[in-house]
Amino acid sequence: MQVHRIELPTPFPVGPVNVYLLDGEPLTLVDAGPKTPEAQAALEEGLARAGRRVEEIRRLILTHGHTDHFGNAMWIRARSGAEIYAHPADQPKIAGERWIIDHLRRHFILSGLPESFLGGFMDRMRAMRPLFDPVTEFQPLSDGGTVEIAGDGWRVLHCPGHSLGHVCLFHLEGTLIAGDLLLGDVSPNPLVEFTAEGRRIATLPRYLHSLRRILLLNCERAHPGHGGTIGNPGARIRELISHHEQRKEEIYRLLGRQPKTLFELAAELYQNLDEINVMLALSEVIGHLDLLAEEKRVSAIRRGVAFGFRPR
Ligand SMILES: [Zn+2]
Ligand SMILES: [Zn+2]
Repeated sequence: MQVHRIELPTPFPVGPVNVYLLDGEPLTLVDAGPKTPEAQAALEEGLARAGRRVEEIRRLILTHGHTDHFGNAMWIRARSGAEIYAHPADQPKIAGERWIIDHLRRHFILSGLPESFLGGFMDRMRAMRPLFDPVTEFQPLSDGGTVEIAGDGWRVLHCPGHSLGHVCLFHLEGTLIAGDLLLGDVSPNPLVEFTAEGRRIATLPRYLHSLRRILLLNCERAHPGHGGTIGNPGARIRELISHHEQRKEEIYRLLGRQPKTLFELAAELYQNLDEINVMLALSEVIGHLDLLAEEKRVSAIRRGVAFGFRPR
């Protein structure tokens, strides 16, 4: 099974994103890149190197609903008529549902985020809009399903955490198309997520569960959403699991008798918080507090408009 990696530029701090061409019938592309002229040109060049064109793509599989991965989906579909496949749990994101931003805003207020950060962050969210076309129609992927390419089967694995509808593709030869579940150089932080009704979903516990599930597959190589192929995915997974274990204890040690807001904890962890990294920092803190809450080691107390956390 031939897997071609095509690297596309993104305007995000994460750097370039990988999309993967699975050559064979029906011609399948995994992920689409952000909707920028630069990413579209790089996609066309990458496909040409494999002797293919955008118009030939028949199937587009989205690993998850982050803009750097799905932004071009509708552009590719308009050019090729390809069917788009995604997990239904990421439907709100790829459709660009308004309520996601409303719930985030409320979450930030409950986190004790200063007004100055809030305005800047909201401006950045609005600036994301031109980088994707909302995906309104797609075929649902489900856990355990099979994607056939030239008679060869890839197993669909629903791996929630980094994003609720995140999927990986696994080939029995030991190859994993990992999306952002597994990255070589950075820890792929699960971001805060909500139900449509506004209830926050604990994403880090789900992420760790997904990692442990992938560990059992004994993959030989993983093709990640960013960076080069990971040669020993099991070792990387164990590294990530122990990183979160250490981070959890580090955050526990920051808690004191006086309840601290998420923003206060994030500011103690990171010296240079700005409106770009504050979302990642708050997600990092709340994720590990979720792990501590599962162990009944932390409790939340109302503090004005925000919530504070202290040891139980
Ligand atoms: Zn992502
Ligand atoms: Zn990504």
